[in-house]
Formats: sequence, structure tokens, C-alpha cells
Amino acid sequence: MIYADYNATAPVRPEAKAAMMASLDVGANPSSVHGPGRAARKLLEIARAQVAVAIGARAQDVIFTSGGTEANALAVNGVVAQLDGKCTLLVSAIEHEAVMKNAGYAGVPVETVYVTTDGVLDLDWLRQRLADWDAERDGTPVLAVMIANNETGVVQPVAEAATLVREAGGLTHCDAVQGLGKIMVNVNLLGVDYLALSAHKIGGPQGVGALWVRSGAPLKPVLFGGGQERSLRSGTENLSGIAGFGAATEAAIRDMPKLQKLAAARDAMEAKLVAEAGVTVFGAAAERLPQTSNFAIPGFRAETQVMAMDLGGVAVSSGSACSSGKVKRSLVLSAMGVSDELSDSAIRVSFGWDTQPADFDAVAEAWLSAAKRALKN
Ligand code: PLP
Repeated sequence: MIYADYNATAPVRPEAKAAMMASLDVGANPSSVHGPGRAARKLLEIARAQVAVAIGARAQDVIFTSGGTEANALAVNGVVAQLDGKCTLLVSAIEHEAVMKNAGYAGVPVETVYVTTDGVLDLDWLRQRLADWDAERDGTPVLAVMIANNETGVVQPVAEAATLVREAGGLTHCDAVQGLGKIMVNVNLLGVDYLALSAHKIGGPQGVGALWVRSGAPLKPVLFGGGQERSLRSGTENLSGIAGFGAATEAAIRDMPKLQKLAAARDAMEAKLVAEAGVTVFGAAAERLPQTSNFAIPGFRAETQVMAMDLGGVAVSSGSACSSGKVKRSLVLSAMGVSDELSDSAIRVSFGWDTQPADFDAVAEAWLSAAKRALKN
């Protein structure tokens, strides 16, 4: 089976497994002051340093969470709470539901920042909106923009957007879950105030992530309890998950040049599918993650493609597929102006650390033979 669904979850890396197994042998609470507790704390802090160095941050500014969803929820709700609701959330139209829905429930005004037909944040719209900002009426501007989209792989102009927002006296949160290990994610170059990460997209375990918070940026906890993670995220840390996250992060950064080389094989696959079947590739004109491809051909429904590919030995997904089995029309493709008919036939191929360039050829072959069979009927 060729696994081509890394943007949903990447297989666990051997380095992460080894770190997790070693941490399970420690068997103590990282908050305990005795020797075993200190040994657990040491592993926790090693992982924190591994994650921090990968994003150009200070270790003390990294807060471990239960995943990307919680990191995004903490950023969105935490900033709104600390600002006493005196803010307006500017949310890009292509954010993951973890950002979009938390913004929707935060109890403050939310405005959508649209994207171009290539799936790139509309900086002109943002500039204009900020120029018209009325602090009395709108409060602090808080922008949420992801570093790269999980469905299309389109990379977003986060640094430019964050500069505009900072100049307007606002704050920026970046969901970098899909960027880590694929493109450079550096909190200083991005100039953001909050940044969310998740372990399972890079070969770490599921159920662990982190929120980086710029020192001094407003943030109120949303979980209260024992005061772990500088009281910003109470609850005994998931030590084995965090150890696996740290090891996976280090390996992902080490392997980034190899991953980036996949772009050539991805482009060749797309060129073949365009030439032989006339598929539409979404976001093709924009800068994209090197290992993601999202394409469609009218009349060949995504669910049918996913099943046909599965039978052909290739695992891909349709739509955003964060909770599998749930088929919903893609809000991301709609935001890019893609018709419902085309959107309903979009599938995502996403590769990662254990992929060989030849895997893209295998995907192209499997897809073309599935399409020939389906479109003939
Ligand atoms: N943000 C993005 C862009 C994602 O792709 C995902 C997962 O699909 C998440 C957030 C949620 O992360 P997690 O699954 O760790 O909660």
C-alpha cells in the first residue's frame, strides 16, 4: 500500500517511537520533585528545546497541548479572554475548523479575510480593512492565518500579513500545523504572536501539539487546574507523546531538504495527469508545500476516487478529511471560487518523510487507470 495521506496523519517515525518507549520507562510525573520526577522533567524539557529550536523560539515560550486543535483553541480563546473581548477576529477564509469554529464561538465579531482564486490570503483586502480600522468600535485587530493550507498546500503570506497587523496595533496567530518540517517555520521571521503545532503531521504521535506564545503577548488560559505549562495549560503533561513530538520535530527538520525535493516528483505527477486526463490542479500557480497535490476532474466523485485508489493500493483522501468518513464540501475550494461540481471530485495526495519520488508515479498510474474505468461507464 502506498500511503499518500500525510496531511491527515504521518506514520510515526522510528526516532519518535524510540523516544516514546524510553519515556514510558521513566514512569513519573514531571512536576514531582524526587529523582524519577526530575528524570521525567528532563525529558519534557529536552522535547521543549527540540520544538523551540525548530521554530527559532525560546524554550520557555513553548506550551505543550493535546494537539493542533487545542493549540488553536487556546490561542483564539486565550487572546479574546485576556483582551476582555475588546477585539475583532480577522480569520482567513481557508482556516482549519479548529481556528474557524473557535473564532465563531468566541463571542466577539469575526470578519473573513478572503483568498484569491489561487488560494492565497488577499493582502490588499487586509490592508484596506486595517486602514479603515476604528479602535473604539472594533477593538484590537487579531488576525488568524495559517502558514500553509492542509487541503491545497498553498503557502500563505504570513510575514506580510503580520507586519500589516502589527503596524495597526494588532496581534497575529498562525496555525503552522502543516508547515513544520516542510517549509521554514521561524517565529521571528514570521513576526507572529502565537503559533500552533501538531506532532502527528510530522511523524510524531497523535494527541500532542504545542502553542508558541511571544513573550508578553496577551493570553489567558482556558483550562485551569494544577498550573502546569506556566499555568497556561493545566494538566499533567503527556510525557511520552511530548517526547515523541520532540524527537519527530528534530528528525523533521533534519529531513526537510529531502522532503522539499519531492516537489519535482509532485510537479511531474501533476503534469502527467493534466496532459493525459485534463485534471484541474488547485493552487498550482501559487507557492505550495512540496508534498501536497489537490486535483479534480468533473464527473468522477471524490469518494469513488478514494475507494478506487484504495483498491489500487494507494491511500488518499477527499476534502479536508480531518475526521475521516465525514464527507463535506470543501470550504477551502469554495473560498477559491471552485464550482461545486469540480469541488465534489477533488482529492488530496499528500506525502512525507517515508515517501520515495517514485511513489508519485505509482499514484499517477493508479489514478489514471481508476479514471479510465470510471469515466468510460
Ligand atoms: N490545523 C491544521 C491546518 C490541520 O491540518 C489540523 C489537522 O488536520 C489541525 C489544525 C488539527 O490538529 P490536531 O489533529 O493535532 O488536533
